[in-house]
This record gives sequence, C-alpha cells and structure tokens, in this order.
Amino acid sequence: MIVVMSSGAGEEDILEVEKKIKSFGYDVHRSKGENRTILGTIGHPREDVREAMEVIPSVEKVVLVSHPFKLVSREYQFDRTIIKAGNIEIGGNKVVMTAGPSVFEGKDFYLQAAESVRKGGADILRGGIYKPRKYTSDFQALEEKGLQIMAAAREMTGLPVMTEVVDQYSVEIVSRYVDIIQVGADNMQNFRLLRDLGQLKKPVLLKRGMSSTIEEWLMAAEYILSNGNNQVILCERGIRTFERFTSNTLDISAVPIVKELSHLPVFVDPSSGTGNRKLVPSLSMAAVAAGADGLLVDVYPNSPDALSSQSQVMEPYKFAQMVASLRELAQAVGRTI
Ligand code: PEP
Ligand code: MN
Repeated sequence: MIVVMSSGAGEEDILEVEKKIKSFGYDVHRSKGENRTILGTIGHPREDVREAMEVIPSVEKVVLVSHPFKLVSREYQFDRTIIKAGNIEIGGNKVVMTAGPSVFEGKDFYLQAAESVRKGGADILRGGIYKPRKYTSDFQALEEKGLQIMAAAREMTGLPVMTEVVDQYSVEIVSRYVDIIQVGADNMQNFRLLRDLGQLKKPVLLKRGMSSTIEEWLMAAEYILSNGNNQVILCERGIRTFERFTSNTLDISAVPIVKELSHLPVFVDPSSGTGNRKLVPSLSMAAVAAGADGLLVDVYPNSPDALSSQSQVMEPYKFAQMVASLRELAQAVGRTI
C-alpha cells in the first residue's frame, strides 16, 4: 500500500500518519519527493487500513499496489533513481560502460587490463575476486589480495571499481575496498546476503537469476531497499531456456519492462547473456536501443588465456571498437556514452 501525502502536509502530519500506519502493525518507509511525501507500508495490504488512511485530511490518496514489490516500483517513486559511483552517474542520460575481466590472477595483469578498458571507453572497472565457481578444480581467485589490486587499479585509472560478493561474510571486507558490490545470478535469492547489503550505504548491482522471473528479480531488489539501501542497479544477464546455441537467452524485453515497472537503473550483461564473444557487440546494440542504462562486459587481454568463461571474453581493442559504434547508436536514441 502506498500512502501519498497531500502537497501541503507538514512534518507533523507525516509523523501522525506514520504513527497510524504503525498502529496497524506495519513498518513504514518514507520517500520525500519534490512536491510530496510518499509513505510505503511494509506488510500485507488490508482494505480496512486503506479506508482508515483515506479519511485523514493530510492524505491525498492511498494506492493499493498491484505488484508484490513496492519500494522498487514507479508507483512508489516515479522519478528515476540516479546512483553515484565515484564521478559516474548511473541511471541518467549516459549509458555507463562497465568492463574488465570476470576473474583475474595478478596485479600486473589487472592493471594492464584496467588501463586498456579505460582507454577503450569504460566508465567503471569490473573484476572477479570472490567467484562462485561451478567446479572445485576452477581457479578460485584472489580474495583480499585481489581487493587491494582493484584499489590500486582505481587509484591508477580514476575509475570506480566493482566486484562480486558470494556470501554475507565477505560483505564487510569487500565494501571497504570497492565502489559497487555485485550480486551474481547464483545469489539473487540469497536473502541473508541481500539483507546485509541493504544495511550498506553503497551501490549494489543485482543480477537476475538464471531461472528467475522479472517479479522474483524485483522482489530480490525489494529486500535490499526495504533494509534501507536504495542504491540498487538491476542487471539482466540471460535466462535459461531450451536454446543451446547460446549459454543463456538474453532477455532484452526485460529492459523496457523493468524500466516501466521500476525506477531503478537497468544494466545488461551481454557476455554472460550469450556466452559468446562474437554476439556481444550486436546484443550490446540491442540493449542500448532497448533503453539499458549500462552494460557489463567481460574484457580480457589475451583472451585465449582467460581463466574463466573463455568463450565470452572480448579483447580490449574489440571492446574499444564496440564502444565507438555504441556511441553512434546511443545518439540515435537520445543517450550519450
Ligand atoms: C560475472 O559477471 O562475473 C558472473 C559470474 O555472472 P553471473 O552472475 O551473471 O553468472
Ligand atoms: Mn557467470
């Protein structure tokens, strides 16, 4: 349920309405817009509560939300959320390029990769440190040493950095080093982790689970927002279908759907989304045309040596070429890159 306060409502009116909402056993979440304050109730909506709210003079209207997610919805917040990471604005007019290796094994390697993606047009550096690997024999990455290397890359390039957390135990240490925390597809419904990320004051990039519906994905984001952190970026990365020519089926339609349902920025990961580097440029174009606010691309110097996801990683020079063509496309759809 969303309680829209009238434009003339003062702090005292708002406090009174909040108190009333709480008296019914709900938690309440306040959002201050330019002209009015909106109160989201957390708990199952009830008709009698709605009626009790509607008769309060300082309440303009009460909206029963048709979706189970609320704080992430555009009914709750119409204006788009803009998230700052370093000097970069996510969710504004600029389509944000996030690039780097999804796993890396050493400092020289990562610094070189970071510099090459910066030159190629990256706005944010990515790097896999804690990795959810399918096989115990897979390279398991560097953990804290990796975080220090990422911090060095941020220092060197001036770009904000992002890495993935795989459990709630690493949230604290990762949040000390990086600007954006990534939640991988495998962890989208790790609710303990989401709750802990909700307690941070740091942007979180939440990937869509490979077998998750859009509603489940938005509900996962709702966990983070309802715990107090509204800096969430959603990232479509392909879902599991019967198709085997690609490792996942990139659901481009999710971009305009989610942008209509939610005020949160939406990214697309065409690398995980296809598992095939040859498809990354065309799917990136499709993502930008569909309204994506950013891309997340696996870029790896000397890609035949990549320790992870070999078939999807792209060489830095190809990334640079791709960004150049995306710039032209972005212009055609009223965006910049
Ligand atoms: C990644 O981006 O490094 C990754 C592991 O992707 P996903 O969580 O989408 O599988
Ligand atoms: Mn993956």
